[in-house]
Amino acid sequence: MTVDELHRARQEYDALVARGLKLDLTRGKPSPRQLDLANGMLEQPGEHVSAAGVDLRNYGGLEGLPELRAIFADALQVPVDQLLAAGNSSLELMHDAIVFALLGVVPGAERRWADSEITFLCPVPGYDRHFAVCERFGIKMAPVPMTPDGPDMDVVERLVAADPQIKGIWCVPKYSNPDGTVYSDETVHRLATMETAAPDFRIFWDNAYAVHHLTDTETAIADLLALAAEHGHPDRVFVFGSSSKITFAGSGVAFFGSSPANIAWWLSHTSKRSIGPDKLNQLRHVRFLRDADGLRTHMRKLADLIRPKFEVVDKILTAELGGTGLASWTSPAGGYFITLRVPPGCARAVVAKARGAGIALTPAGASHPYGDDPDDRTIRIAPTYPEPPELEAAISGLATCVRLVGAEKQAAG
Ligand code: PMP
Repeated sequence: MTVDELHRARQEYDALVARGLKLDLTRGKPSPRQLDLANGMLEQPGEHVSAAGVDLRNYGGLEGLPELRAIFADALQVPVDQLLAAGNSSLELMHDAIVFALLGVVPGAERRWADSEITFLCPVPGYDRHFAVCERFGIKMAPVPMTPDGPDMDVVERLVAADPQIKGIWCVPKYSNPDGTVYSDETVHRLATMETAAPDFRIFWDNAYAVHHLTDTETAIADLLALAAEHGHPDRVFVFGSSSKITFAGSGVAFFGSSPANIAWWLSHTSKRSIGPDKLNQLRHVRFLRDADGLRTHMRKLADLIRPKFEVVDKILTAELGGTGLASWTSPAGGYFITLRVPPGCARAVVAKARGAGIALTPAGASHPYGDDPDDRTIRIAPTYPEPPELEAAISGLATCVRLVGAEKQAAG
């Protein structure tokens, strides 16, 4: 790094700031054009009677509409009678699962989780809102490194075998947030079969991106719920999913799937908090998606809007940072995020510089428990919301910030 290069990097950054951009890459929100693709739902349902002749305007039906559960059963790998359709948010269901386990007794538990100090394993990088739920309820978090095949299973197996206070693990098994990682069959098998010191251990299987392929390849993962049952751990798995990133992010339908015992336990709690979900919204989804093939067709249309955005990010990062040694990034085959890795100790500085230039990014560290990325090198890029021209400007600006921070670091060191 020469003095000239540092000078040039500063000039580029000053020019970027002078552009007065105002761009937001913080959250994985669907773009208005994506939402428009589901506008057909706004005309639905136009009726209020289910296939079984039930008046869906009324109270009841806590399990959710069977015809909608049937559409999502294959995608989420849960038998229809073990899959519930609920309100609009799967995060809400994950939050509730934790609360119910803290204050009630999950099948297989000797006591409530609230009665002792407990820990969750958190594969990193991971989803900040998972970590926020743990933090909110005083659940300790133990980071586990991600590998290209999912969490490092040597670490997971060692920890869960040794400590009965480790009660759970967060997993986003397909196109994970933020790395885009797909769990290998071996990882899923080891999760299903591992010995846990806690008899009430639970895998929070957040399959948020089950059908969110960016290419024509419909990546499949092994069936954790079935494997766990096959190997004598039927109650180990809580499956979560939703149509938030399929139809409307704020008005989708969330799903909970598990063993018959866990489903009975779940309903024993949810029946105290609700007399039934919004079944008209569920019917709206049935009318709009029609069946599993309709879901597939809709996802292809969404992919056609999203794929070019991922390509834009990859193209600009390659052009502006390729071969510099300053960054590496993921090229996921699905999901909503790209992870940008910068040299150790640089992520916070890059995010701060970007903010200074009007480019909002998820805070550095958010992908780690307690917001603490010990290497300070992980940045999550959420490319779905902006349209390609703004996205180009934002990623190019981000690259400028990476170059400046890299140059300053080299000059200092
Ligand atoms: N899980 C993951 C992994 C996510 O990335 C998101 C959305 N960013 C959610 C859950 C939230 O889902 P919902 O809208 O169903 O609450």
